Amino acid sequence: MPEFSAVLSKIIAIDGPAASGKSSVSKALAKRFGVTHVNSGLMYRAATRAVLAEGIDPGNTKEVDRYIGTVDTAAKAEVNGELSIIIGGTVREGLNSEDVNTFVSAVSQAPLVRDRMVALQRRMVESIPTIMEGRDIGTVVFPDTPFKFYVTASEEVRAARRAAEGLTDQVAARDKADSTRKSSPLTIAEDATVIDSSDLTLEETVEAIATSLEEKGWR
Ligand code: C5P
Repeated sequence: MPEFSAVLSKIIAIDGPAASGKSSVSKALAKRFGVTHVNSGLMYRAATRAVLAEGIDPGNTKEVDRYIGTVDTAAKAEVNGELSIIIGGTVREGLNSEDVNTFVSAVSQAPLVRDRMVALQRRMVESIPTIMEGRDIGTVVFPDTPFKFYVTASEEVRAARRAAEGLTDQVAARDKADSTRKSSPLTIAEDATVIDSSDLTLEETVEAIATSLEEKGWR
């Protein structure tokens, strides 16, 4: 395991609200800089999928935490860029389904779910350097990394992006739940660079972050 400070100098944190474009941007940046990409949202989605499969009420935080406390949890970034996630067993299918979109914010506010996922995320940086995207990467998971970005876009643009993907996703409702929850709410880290991608193409957004990374001393 490399020294932690050395690890931190190799982590790019990309946070932002639902459908802000952070996944496409993170993927493109990972390719450009030759680093591992981790979409932490998929881990909360997998937890939600498992909770639903168990027939647990996703709004019952105590039950959700009780379940998470009893199962094996693991996550690994594969060389092909995929994330393999174990919540009880391997969870791969249906992570972007409508029911997961509906209940993921409820499940991800359960304290033990957050503790488990954050611990897994910190452990994954053994495969440094990494771009990790999510809601609390720059504020909670890796607050000491100097490379932090908050990618956003107007609510209309974000809803239109989801619709263009053919997905039903109440982005405004998820943002409200994610921003107002007690544990690790979605906030902008004081030292994050904010990129509003409402009027930018994917390439322009990637370029803006790449330029900023170089200015911040990314090598
Ligand atoms: O990024 P994505 O929209 O797929 O994330 C799905 C959900 O997972 C978010 O709406 C949020 O509730 C939760 N999440 C989180 N913390 C993260 C990443 C995602 O709470 N770091």
